[in-house]
Amino acid sequence: MRALMLAALIAASPALAATESAGSLDGVTIIDRLDVADLAAGSSQRFWFRAGTSPVGQPWLVPVVVVKGAAPGPRLVLTAGIHGDELNGIAVLHRLAAGIDPARMSGTLTLVPGLNPPGLLQSTRQWTPDWSRSAPNLNREMPGREGGSAIAEFAGRLWSRLIRPNADSAVDLHTQSRGTAYMMYAFASTPRTRRMAELVAPDIIKMDKGDKGTVENTLTDDGVPAITLELGRPEMFDEVMIGRAEAGLTNLMRELKMLPGKVNPAPASLFVANDIIPARASKAGWARLLLPLGSTVKKDQPIAEVRDAFGAVLETVTAPVAGRINMITTDPRVSQGDTIVRIVWWSPDPACQNGC
Ligand SMILES: [Zn+2]
Repeated sequence: MRALMLAALIAASPALAATESAGSLDGVTIIDRLDVADLAAGSSQRFWFRAGTSPVGQPWLVPVVVVKGAAPGPRLVLTAGIHGDELNGIAVLHRLAAGIDPARMSGTLTLVPGLNPPGLLQSTRQWTPDWSRSAPNLNREMPGREGGSAIAEFAGRLWSRLIRPNADSAVDLHTQSRGTAYMMYAFASTPRTRRMAELVAPDIIKMDKGDKGTVENTLTDDGVPAITLELGRPEMFDEVMIGRAEAGLTNLMRELKMLPGKVNPAPASLFVANDIIPARASKAGWARLLLPLGSTVKKDQPIAEVRDAFGAVLETVTAPVAGRINMITTDPRVSQGDTIVRIVWWSPDPACQNGC
């Protein structure tokens, strides 16, 4: 039925027909391109977005939910699962899709709960069909290039047919990768995106110049303010993190005037940093943390012990700088040079205002 409605809409208004339908699967329209302007106000719709073709000749289908408010307003895009072992964001988007009434909303919310189906299938951070490089990372490939390599094609379709054309602002949801854990932690790169991050109310904001090819930085550089939101541990649904992120993103939508209600200010406990320093093991062995995630540390404070196979202490790892522990290893087996924790802190260097 949705497919028929969409087809009728496209036929009725060819000048606006940017959304390209390609059939349906179990009643869900398959699309090759999305323009949320084509969709009816006051509706919530599901799509399968065709992001390319797998090496066994089957389409890569990415789930999309569009909640289009009854009133006009800004377009917010929320994406999750670009790293396939980072799952909390998927549940956040499912909850927003189920919980927001389009009749009470202004503007358009586009939710993409699972950008990297091959990585999700194998619970890996990487984009697994591309064997041409040792570690293809889909979150370093934006804006991609249609007609390029397999991963460039996949990224290019996501970028130019789904994400970029429908975004006035965006949040890309992650967690730490296997064997490690984060606090609730946001990356921002400008005063505008710092404000977005504050509204989502993480434990820590890291002002960060970012990496080339990420969803966040490619959007921000293209004039669409975007943040990356990190939600704790990989390979699980953590209900506390999921609930906090849902509340924070709802608060952001209030600020954007997409939802009614009072905007909560940033929490007083928020820690803003502009630099991050790893504390590493210089010996291989069994690492035992002496402090929990989130601890405030002084310079040279002991933070972990590394023991040999018999349990004797080989070294005590200390904090290289005063700050806050925003990431820990959760796997005690460490190799020489491995990061045990990362510490965020605020560098007073004026050049570091938006990230060192
Ligand atoms: Zn990630």
